[in-house]
Amino acid sequence: MDDWLRLVKESLTTADDLSLHFPGVDTGEAKQVIGKYPMRINSYFMDVIRNSDSPAIYRQAVPDIAELRDTVCMEDPLSEEQQSPVPNLTHRYPDRCLFLVSSQCAMYCRFCTRKRKVGDPQMISADTIKAGIEYIKNHSEIRDVILSGGDPLMLADEVLEDIVGNVRKIPHVEIIRIGTRVPCALPMRVTQRLCRMLKKHHPIFINVHFNHPDELTPEAREACGRLVDSGFPVNNQSVLLRGVNDSPEILTKLFQQLLACRVRPYYLYQADVTKGTNHFRTPMERGLDIIRGLRGYTSGLAVPHFVIDAPQGGGKIPLLPKYVTRRTNKEIIMRNYKGEIYRYPEVQHEELDVKVVENTEVLK
Ligand SMILES: *Cc1c(COP(=O)(O)O)cnc(C)c1O
Ligand code: SF4
Repeated sequence: MDDWLRLVKESLTTADDLSLHFPGVDTGEAKQVIGKYPMRINSYFMDVIRNSDSPAIYRQAVPDIAELRDTVCMEDPLSEEQQSPVPNLTHRYPDRCLFLVSSQCAMYCRFCTRKRKVGDPQMISADTIKAGIEYIKNHSEIRDVILSGGDPLMLADEVLEDIVGNVRKIPHVEIIRIGTRVPCALPMRVTQRLCRMLKKHHPIFINVHFNHPDELTPEAREACGRLVDSGFPVNNQSVLLRGVNDSPEILTKLFQQLLACRVRPYYLYQADVTKGTNHFRTPMERGLDIIRGLRGYTSGLAVPHFVIDAPQGGGKIPLLPKYVTRRTNKEIIMRNYKGEIYRYPEVQHEELDVKVVENTEVLK
């Protein structure tokens, strides 16, 4: 058996497993939570928890009774099911789609947007995968396919190769993306064999998921390095989580260290309104503060897009601090990163037929 698969099989999955390692855990409560939302903590990630001085890593992996007390959030906040023409494929945007090919993850993040689905092997089958590939074949407008789950890298190499190969054969598919938390949660899964297999199907982009600098262990850095060395552009998607990473210091460090691993911070997500995760949500202003603290102060490459994935399936909406304080047809009045005011003269070429803008909204 592969090393990584053995680690998955030996993961902590029950309240009793948990109480052996964390005596402070209320076993009764943990049992209730796990009954609804599965837990999986492998021994690699246990070490990440133990070696961190911050509760941030623990909170992402260990069940909390608050998950069952959430009366605010929704099962499927992004309306993924409504926008699925076939099960497990969401076609929300004109030229790309999200295709769920695995229900398994290297660990079950307590804040997961797909809490309703992950860990349930019934959700995804050879039939839904076949139907998804047929759908993509029949929709020539799809030029970008995002494989997600769960985690596609939890599939055996052969199974994943079959899916990727079939998607790659579709002439109108230009790029394939793989969304995975494996480089963070189980980096030994990113084997040379896996990289060699996937690189035959380039162009493939890998989107990884790190939320805290303590997750960037030597093993995780090496896994990212193997991916980049195999020619995959690697981008990171983080979720902004209360009590985990909701501070400019933590995220600045994370994004700078990701760049040092040749991983580009791509999105910082406002936490979704997912049932069982309300305790992780932060006010929107916190995210804006973080972006404000990054832009100008560190490499532009380290600044991700801060987005809210809109409820009801509206898609990702970018949020920016207000840099433009006033705008007329003559000039744009802006603040730089330090808050100093600058004026940019608007283009006055007559032939451009500039519309008169009197958006004089003045913000604090
Ligand atoms: C996030 C997402 C995408 C990809 O969005 P990009 O902005 O292109 O990264 C595509 N489809 C769905 C349903 C998504 O949620
Ligand atoms: S790895 Fe991703 S899909 Fe799996 S539980 Fe974590 S956030 Fe959810």
